[in-house]
Amino acid sequence: MEKYKLPNLPYGYKDLEPYMSEEVLTLHHTKHHKAYVESANALLDKIKDARDKNSELDFKSVLKSFSFNVAGHILHEIFWKIMAPAEASAGKPNGELAKMIEKEFGSFERFKTEFSETAKSVEGSGWAVLALHKEHGNLNIIQIEKHNVNFYPEQKIILCLDVWEHAYYLDYKNDRAKFIENWWNIVNWEEVESRFKST
Ligand code: MN
Repeated sequence: MEKYKLPNLPYGYKDLEPYMSEEVLTLHHTKHHKAYVESANALLDKIKDARDKNSELDFKSVLKSFSFNVAGHILHEIFWKIMAPAEASAGKPNGELAKMIEKEFGSFERFKTEFSETAKSVEGSGWAVLALHKEHGNLNIIQIEKHNVNFYPEQKIILCLDVWEHAYYLDYKNDRAKFIENWWNIVNWEEVESRFKST
């Protein structure tokens, strides 16, 4: 079985400052994301071991934990890619994605409000996600709890925002709204556009 790997960041740990500090980004990548990768791999080993020995496995608990950890890994992989240093960020999408957002949401500002409100109102730990339904071509905003609850099939994630406390607490304390407002400065719209087109 192919193992999951912790990817390198496409920028330095200091490069998202002042919106995301070096301390937060370092801990987030080298501790939190790493833990999801290691837990997913440990569960893969457990599944393989049970297969090899043809022994019993507590499928309910193993697969629930696997879903949580793999989803955590995949969302973080995307999250690192769709951010960029503020000076390299275009501030808003253009081209096909901009047109699609205007068509679906009425305006980029309306989209931003909906996405921000989705992120703000996550109960506990979770994510706001913009996804493209592969078959219908609709853009959907999805509010994920934890890493894997409320997500549904056939969705290609093109933008995601982590609102677990580990993503902002050291920088913003309990002010999640301020973190979200600042985060828009470090969105890598070129990458988001390219994810949108590659579906
Ligand atoms: Mn996280």
